[in-house]
Amino acid sequence: MAARRFRHPAVPPLAALAAGLAGAVHLWHTDPHEGGALLPRCPVNWATGLDCPACGGTRMAYHLLHADVPAAFQDNALLLVAGVPLGAWLGARWLWEGLRGRRYRPRFARWQAALVVGGAVAWAVFRNLAQ
Ligand SMILES: [Zn+2]
Repeated sequence: MAARRFRHPAVPPLAALAAGLAGAVHLWHTDPHEGGALLPRCPVNWATGLDCPACGGTRMAYHLLHADVPAAFQDNALLLVAGVPLGAWLGARWLWEGLRGRRYRPRFARWQAALVVGGAVAWAVFRNLAQ
């Protein structure tokens, strides 16, 4: 019976929400600008020294949590303007459908996937050349 309860469509989005809230609480108290913070480092940046499209995302989230939107924009503008709303929409929809007992599998048109991937690649090239 317990295994069946865990298969309810609301469990994965609720677990993701709980993990996100726990991460937000940790990040609230952990300034990523200070060395030695217990935060994951970007593997792309670690291996290559280049910024990936999401680099600065932890600092951006820290500033958003502290209501400093201009600083969040400085850390990763595209992630703030496009990634946060898209992620919030997909997460909210996943939770909404799960709470209604339905599984949510987002479907993207080919042009939408190309837009996301192309935008991310263009953003990575731009921000590495702009440094
Ligand atoms: Zn990165």
